[in-house]
Amino acid sequence: MNAEKLLEQMHGLKSVFDEKEGGLTGLDREIGDGDHGVNMKRGFSAVNEKVGSGSTQEILKQTGMTLMSSIGGASGPLYGFSFVKMSEVAKEEINGDNLIEMLEVFDRTVAEKGKVEGGEKTMYDVISKSADLLRDKGSLSLEDLQQLAEETKDMIATKGRAAYFKEKSKGTIDPGAQSAVYIIHALGAGVEK
Ligand code: ADP
Ligand code: MG
Repeated sequence: MNAEKLLEQMHGLKSVFDEKEGGLTGLDREIGDGDHGVNMKRGFSAVNEKVGSGSTQEILKQTGMTLMSSIGGASGPLYGFSFVKMSEVAKEEINGDNLIEMLEVFDRTVAEKGKVEGGEKTMYDVISKSADLLRDKGSLSLEDLQQLAEETKDMIATKGRAAYFKEKSKGTIDPGAQSAVYIIHALGAGVEK
């Protein structure tokens, strides 16, 4: 993936989140405050408007800064800061090995900033397994990523607003795990290991 394709993917997430807004908001209404769809839509509308062409590093950094400043809520700083950190390791041509490296940075950044581990029913449950998925399967399909999000359904949330729901958080896919599916799928478009 070169810079031109990356920019197309980042801009394209606007229409993805336009379409998925209702679904994400529905999930967040079950185990949160019902704003995750609106948050993601607002964030990537801003990315679509503000991020222009540049190197892969500049595009990722601008995407991160824009997400940080446009998304209120827990997900904004987590995604925003992760994009900034991923920009630091991105090569001009993002191949499979480079994407694995980026996803490992994504993993470490969310783990540190969110003070989160696997199994706590968050976006981290998708993010932390994506590098291995790419390693094992050779590409990042929507189906395989979705499977990771589905696995959060039976978990009990111990981080973020969903944690207030305790046992009752069971039975719903975590909204952030679902949005992470779309973000990682966009980063992996056309990239093979
Ligand atoms: P808010 O919870 O502030 O309303 P959003 O609704 O936009 O923000 O985002 C909620 C998502 O953020 C959750 O579904 C979860 O995946 C993620 N999240 C919240 N807190 C954490 C955390 N400490 N670590 C990792 N992810 C988190
Ligand atoms: Mg919310």
